[in-house]
Amino acid sequence: MSERNGSGPLYGRVVAVTGGGRGLGRSIALAAAAAGADVAIAYRDSEAGAKSVADEARALGVDADVHRCDVTDRAQVFGFVAAVERRFGRLDGLVNNAGIMPETPFLDVTPEEWDRVIATDLTAAFHASQAVLPGMLERGSGSIVNIASRLGLVGWPGVAHYAGAKAGLIALAKSISREFGQRGIRANCVAPGVTNTDMGRTVMEGEVGRKRMAELPLGRFGEPEEVADCVVFLLSDASALLLGQTLNPNSGGLMP
Ligand code: NDP
Repeated sequence: MSERNGSGPLYGRVVAVTGGGRGLGRSIALAAAAAGADVAIAYRDSEAGAKSVADEARALGVDADVHRCDVTDRAQVFGFVAAVERRFGRLDGLVNNAGIMPETPFLDVTPEEWDRVIATDLTAAFHASQAVLPGMLERGSGSIVNIASRLGLVGWPGVAHYAGAKAGLIALAKSISREFGQRGIRANCVAPGVTNTDMGRTVMEGEVGRKRMAELPLGRFGEPEEVADCVVFLLSDASALLLGQTLNPNSGGLMP
């Protein structure tokens, strides 16, 4: 076991990550730990993954905890946040990362699928933000980071629900920042382009993906660790002046 990163930008902070058992959430939790934060990892199905993230975080010298939490269930979200605050005594950073992206032609999207995507990709961030804000307001500081998407800025065929939810996350972060900024709360978004995870690979591995990659100014898609660095920046005081902003780690594929 190594020593906690005492000079890391998140030293002494506690950060909670939803969907932290795999993919981007895994990289975010590990990057926060490497930056000195204690981490609370929420998972829905990826229990083994979450436990291995916690083990890796502890090996970085920080404390780590795992919790089962379906982000569409408001009671579970509030239970997760309460358990984290009990265990660590505080919660400084929330990363709303859990997400789904079913691809369905718009006219075939059922109301049930629409509701499921909005519940997971947008309403969950509403639940979690309401759960963490009272404690953050009491302490007079807190950073909320929503993982949006490039598609939330441009829209995309076959993922209208997903793109709509991601656009909603951007407006949610702006609204929370405007309402609570003077009381020490910052809410921002990271809107990645295609990133090398289970979700991203569904795009990367096809012919369309290869063509899109060749058109990117950077010439390649992103790795989850690279996106996670943006999240750590937004969680840290290095981004103190950023409220309601969206960082776009997208290989130059969109320059809004
Ligand atoms: P993955 O499909 O690889 O992972 C999805 C994650 O979301 C898993 O950790 C999963 O948890 C969790 N999750 C899904 N539904 C729920 C739920 N109801 N409750 C709790 N957790 C849930 O995706 P990524 O890691 O790539 O995606 C992470 C975020 O990044 C998402 O918000 C996604 O929209 C966004 N994003 C990803 C891009 C990409 O190209 N990869 C591009 C732009 C944005 P579990 O396994 O435990 O069920």
